[in-house]
Amino acid sequence: CSHPLVPGQVRQLDLKALANQDSQQRLLDALRKAIQSDDQLYLEYQPQCDVSGRIIAAEALLRWHHPELGLVSPADFIPLAEQGGIISQLSRWVVQRACEQIREWQAQGITLRLSINLSVLDLVDDLFIRWLLDYCQQQQLNQGQLELEITETALADPEQTSKALKQLSDAGFPLAIDDFGTGQSSLARLNSLDASLIKIDRDFLKEVPGRDRSENMLKAIIELCRATGAEPLVEGVETQQQLDWLLQHNCRLFQGFHLYKPMPPRTLALLVRELDSKRS
Ligand code: C2E
Ligand code: MG
Ligand code: MG
Ligand code: MG
Repeated sequence: CSHPLVPGQVRQLDLKALANQDSQQRLLDALRKAIQSDDQLYLEYQPQCDVSGRIIAAEALLRWHHPELGLVSPADFIPLAEQGGIISQLSRWVVQRACEQIREWQAQGITLRLSINLSVLDLVDDLFIRWLLDYCQQQQLNQGQLELEITETALADPEQTSKALKQLSDAGFPLAIDDFGTGQSSLARLNSLDASLIKIDRDFLKEVPGRDRSENMLKAIIELCRATGAEPLVEGVETQQQLDWLLQHNCRLFQGFHLYKPMPPRTLALLVRELDSKRS
């Protein structure tokens, strides 16, 4: 990785200062340039684990190393890209990079499902959806290798997003609902969407174990996810106590700092190799 920054060194932008139109515009221009220049954006990968500790997949997380500001958080620049109308350009960059990564790993004998985050604005963008379907077909990925994570927000029309999600799922993309329970996803929507994975937001884990009410809610949410036929994954596992509780409560997939933090692709490849060699 050409950016020797430690994870965690993310600068939180002062959004109040950014309310200033001028600086918003400047940052948006800089992001546009970053998409073109190709040396400021990169992906980190956070492993997803099953009960045996095996890495079953990895989530690609976008990083922007701004020449002056340093590392800017996606929580800041993704909304900016959405507001500025350049999110689908950014998403194309992510899809292309993720596909390259899948092929690089394949060449090294590593098969790992990758998941990428899409914006709901991508889903209502017919041009983007067409491009995504065509591009991935050209790439001849194996079925199921690229998973799409969607956070339901009020930004987009639910009917249009449902249509796009159906198209993508028919084309063989596994779908994951991200940040479940905190977005706009209603239970009725959950019943009609064809997700294979539901990522339960880390908010629900904050007081677990320890608070009865939170524990009961999380138990119920895990069962609710299963009732839809999807597999629940709990995000934001930060402690061994949380992991133990989840294991006792029938949860089978996990992601969080206690397991692994997001890491550069080379580190992940080494890790997967090391785990494989211990197993055989
Ligand atoms: P997300 O998709 O829910 O991704 C998980 C976020 O939680 C990541 O933050 C990850 O580093 C963080 N995380 C993982 N485990 C833990 C934990 O145990 N504790 C805590 N406190 N945090 C944990 P990150 O990378 O800063 O990304 C933030 C959000 O930005 C993502 O949330 C996603 O919504 C968005 N994002 C990131 N990359 C992309 C992208 O390529 N495209 C789009 N559209 N959005 C992206
Ligand atoms: Mg995600
Ligand atoms: Mg999210
Ligand atoms: Mg999430």
